Amino acid sequence: MKHTEKPKVLIMIFGATGDLANRKLFPSLYQLYEKNQLSEHFVVIGVARRALTNEQFQEKVKKSIGNANGKNSKLDEFTSHFYYHSHDVSDSNSYMVLNDLANGFDQQYGTEGNRLFYLAMAPEFFGTIAVHLKQDGLTDVKGFKRLIIEKPFGRDLDSAKELNQQIRTAFDEEDIYRIDHYLGKEMVQNIEVIRFANAIFEPLWNNRYISNIQITSSEVLGVEERGRYYETSGALRDMVQNHILQIVALLAMEPPIKLEPREIRSEKVKVLRALRPIQGNKVHKYFIRGQYGAGKINGEAIPAYRNEPMVDPNSNTETFVAGRLLIDNFRWAGVPFYIRTGKRMRTKSTKIVIQFKDIPMNLYYNAEQQLNPNLLVIHVQPEEGITLHLNAKKTGQGINATPVKLSYANSGINGYNTPESYERLLYDCMHGDATNFTHWDEVALSWNFVDNISHVWESSIAHFPNYESGTVGPKESDILLAKDGYYWWPISELEVESNCN
Ligand code: NAD
Repeated sequence: MKHTEKPKVLIMIFGATGDLANRKLFPSLYQLYEKNQLSEHFVVIGVARRALTNEQFQEKVKKSIGNANGKNSKLDEFTSHFYYHSHDVSDSNSYMVLNDLANGFDQQYGTEGNRLFYLAMAPEFFGTIAVHLKQDGLTDVKGFKRLIIEKPFGRDLDSAKELNQQIRTAFDEEDIYRIDHYLGKEMVQNIEVIRFANAIFEPLWNNRYISNIQITSSEVLGVEERGRYYETSGALRDMVQNHILQIVALLAMEPPIKLEPREIRSEKVKVLRALRPIQGNKVHKYFIRGQYGAGKINGEAIPAYRNEPMVDPNSNTETFVAGRLLIDNFRWAGVPFYIRTGKRMRTKSTKIVIQFKDIPMNLYYNAEQQLNPNLLVIHVQPEEGITLHLNAKKTGQGINATPVKLSYANSGINGYNTPESYERLLYDCMHGDATNFTHWDEVALSWNFVDNISHVWESSIAHFPNYESGTVGPKESDILLAKDGYYWWPISELEVESNCN
């Protein structure tokens, strides 16, 4: 969607002294301001528990931007739009004071009654805040009122439904922007363009030509100081329910009739509805869980997950998931989508590999070398780009084939730095573009799929730890593909840069 006018908006950030606000939200808003994508008609009220003056808050905002961007040409001007309100989330009086403050700023900054409420707080507060916003009159405005809500959206379908009911008492579905920051990533947004703006891929994008699809999102970091949260979540809820299933939906959906949020969502929903449920004893067959043990990464000794702060020493929580998904529709019948995600892995990398079927007859086969299948690799992070793996003639005598890679890397274009996910998503929300946010129907279907797996896992004790830090996860994850005659393409073979080899 193209956005022409600069938004006029009052933004309330609940949890303004927290990590997310400091690391992501303030720097992203500043980027928009520097690029002249925010008008002077914007104002931010930071809301949190701690007592701070406006000046102290502005200093914190400046500091967070300095840390993130290392530049500050418009910082004073920018932070003059920031104010602070010390708040108790369950006290109606506090919301009324906040509302008076907001009404005053509305006049002062000409924000025309447009309000964006960003809940950058622990999820247990989401429902309470949404209900108070309505009850205490903060949503009673003549402009737009939008709610941005962070993950996790519930911890299973039942809790997600309850949360949804609470926030729906105050906001219509079309005004709820559920963040999945993967949907703000350049190359995730590029999936649609690669598929629908090129004549060469879409005709092949089906079970006749694709043998399997592999999605890997691996982290080198461990659980760090998020042990308390992670113990209630695990990799399945933290990564698969949202980011990974969203990527699956984008890869597998039918072309929408228009590039409009409603049309795109409706196609994604159809994919999630077609996901074959994995239940009962099938869970152990098609889904692998892992937990990292001690190990070494870059020469540094790494403790086991069970020895991390705020983690149960007998924890049954998974830090790794691999799975085999099937989509029961005409396009995808019989094509496995393999997914894997884990912490404390060898490399930080998010990649999608589309593996095409072998050609019907290999004329170039010789005893030394079999032809490699064609691959389309989408590099999501840290590198951004695409690589097409082909076979071409080996230079010199004879007609032997050799693999070549055609690569396109974003980082190669004049040092172009793609915007942060949060920058894009905040900008979209201010313009009322919900394309890259998750609709309730998608949330519900994803939980439905994931709940079947977590029920089985929660009722059986795993043999953890079962992978060493700094590796590619438990060996069962390799066996999962080997049973179908495939293997995970090693990340090191999928480099984005080289043009030929
Ligand atoms: P945090 O603990 O760093 O910050 C929490 C904020 O909430 C603080 O500003 C605190 O003052 C405020 N708060 C807590 N209790 C309050 C109360 N009773 N009344 C008023 N204010 C109160 O948390 P965070 O890491 O910034 O995460 C916020 C949300 O964003 C969570 O839902 C988290 O899951 C999500 N999230 C965070 C990140 C990240 O990188 N930090 C990434 C993805 C999602």
